[in-house]
Amino acid sequence: MATIGAVTRQIAALEISAKKPAATTASSSSNPVRPGHSKQPSQEKVTKLLTKFAAPVNPNHPPSSKLAPSSSSLRNQTNQAQAHTSNEAPKKASPVPTHQPIDIGRYDGGLEKENEERGEKVYGDAASELALDSSVARRYPTREWNLHSFDIGRPLGKGKFGRVYMVRTKSEPKYILALKTLYKSEIVQSRVEKQIRREIEIQQNLRHPNVLRLYGYFHDEKRIFLMLEFAGKGELYKQLSKHGSFSEKRSARYIDQMADALSYLHSKHVIHRDIKPENLLLGINGELKVADFGWSVHAPGNRRKTMCGTLDYLPPEMVEQKEHNERVDHWALGVLTYEFLIGNPPFEDRDSVNNTYRRIASVDLRFPITCRPTLEISLPGYLLKHEPQDRLPLSEVMKHPWIVKYRPKGQIRPSQLGM
Ligand code: ATP
Ligand code: MG
Repeated sequence: MATIGAVTRQIAALEISAKKPAATTASSSSNPVRPGHSKQPSQEKVTKLLTKFAAPVNPNHPPSSKLAPSSSSLRNQTNQAQAHTSNEAPKKASPVPTHQPIDIGRYDGGLEKENEERGEKVYGDAASELALDSSVARRYPTREWNLHSFDIGRPLGKGKFGRVYMVRTKSEPKYILALKTLYKSEIVQSRVEKQIRREIEIQQNLRHPNVLRLYGYFHDEKRIFLMLEFAGKGELYKQLSKHGSFSEKRSARYIDQMADALSYLHSKHVIHRDIKPENLLLGINGELKVADFGWSVHAPGNRRKTMCGTLDYLPPEMVEQKEHNERVDHWALGVLTYEFLIGNPPFEDRDSVNNTYRRIASVDLRFPITCRPTLEISLPGYLLKHEPQDRLPLSEVMKHPWIVKYRPKGQIRPSQLGM
């Protein structure tokens, strides 16, 4: 059986990619949880406040093909990532024939099992709202897909509306994807059907090497299925839990990629609003992938009422329930930088949620005494400003000496290429 690394190499070669991907490991490892990095539970309800996408689809970035996930859409993605992370001319590699069966892991029958136990059929307006099928999408129709189009592999995780599996397309060329299920009745119960619909449609049109791709979607009576880019190295949150904090170099490289992804999203008028380690995945080469923004329906208002979920990434304007704009993501980037370097979010107070609120609202930013006032420490300070307009622009984040210091030589960020 081929390893995931080998599979990915094959896919990369099939995609005529330039770089030789590094060997990798599956992300099915244990999940040692440090107290400072406990994964926050999902919240059930949502308010309009947290509508994740506000922008229309940008016509300058249409899907590359009518067949999704077509060879061209995957190829584009690979080439895009190549073109934008290196200034070397891409070298063509010959496609490598796949002699070995691709190991997608063992399927546990969970989709059928879950389907028997979970979810109801949905009728009426909600049903038509959730009849999500990218093959008939008005603007960019894609190829028709259904559950039989895939070999199902190992479970990757559980989302709040259903499970996520590693899958491979049955038809050639056999692509590896993550298939995420969403139970329609639970979406209806959470009253997010319109939001999910719009978000999925917009998400499908985002293309950036550090933004997790959505290649297509389809539905059956009870479920919606999202065909997502497979993030071979799993959750960044797990890495952070394992290591406690990251080295300067690793932190700087992640923040560089984050700043670039966010600046791309903002240029499309998309505000993520839920940036935190739990919502970041890692690609097969360890590259960061912003995920979970369409259907992540956490609402700060509800979090506040239920006193659970993570407050740590909320900016003062959300804590104070004021209007907010894309600068909420700048704030979250500051929190992320701090957490990567120090090992816990800056305004965390494990004993009292109110204290966390208070500390956020007053920007009570402190560094451990042992911390030297070095270069990296200045970045969270520039981003964690009470007034949104005072927060460092993302273009400046990418020029910050600490970020530049650790950027691989000769690497050009996608935004520098006008993406
Ligand atoms: P939650 O609110 O608990 O985060 P969710 O509905 O947002 O749930 P996801 O976070 O998208 O669901 O998926 C659940 C888990 O499945 C993730 O934590 C991750 O481990 C795994 N997973 C999801 N998408 C992918 C992917 N594209 N590649 C690899 N693993 C994935
Ligand atoms: Mg999630």
